Amino acid sequence: MKMGLCSFCLKSEILCQKCLAKVKSGEISELDLKVARLLMSLEEKYPSIQNVYFHKTIDADGTLAIVVGPGDVPRLLGYGGKIVRALGDETGKNVRILETGVDDRKFLEDLFAPLSIMTINTIWLPDGSTETRVILRRRRGARGSFDVKALKDIASRVRNITLRVEYAD
Ligand SMILES: [Zn+2]
Repeated sequence: MKMGLCSFCLKSEILCQKCLAKVKSGEISELDLKVARLLMSLEEKYPSIQNVYFHKTIDADGTLAIVVGPGDVPRLLGYGGKIVRALGDETGKNVRILETGVDDRKFLEDLFAPLSIMTINTIWLPDGSTETRVILRRRRGARGSFDVKALKDIASRVRNITLRVEYAD
């Protein structure tokens, strides 16, 4: 796995001056560090993690979004979802994996997986601002660990989009 910390610091308990400065400035949060080290510890068992570029984590209530590089989502969702499950068990949160450098549709598909998206459109509000309306296809029994409020929060913090979520009947 690659990220803004040097590989020495990722593997050790202490940080070098350069990496320590990044943590102190907030460029890398304590949570980023925790999740990155967790991923590192899983690398041997799941080698596809080696090629993942870790950007950051967003903690929204009980949902944790991990933002990774282009093409990295399948690297973390493989192995029958075991990596995500391990991350969820360790952090006690519902984990979402998101990619940088993708279009809105791909971003939203990853955010709402495993639900499928029927329609995405933009709503113009009278004050000139916009909302992105997402219509999801209902899926029986698949909404247990699904917190729409947290996902909206994540969309706003990662991509600066305001979501309106609806379900198709
Ligand atoms: Zn370092």
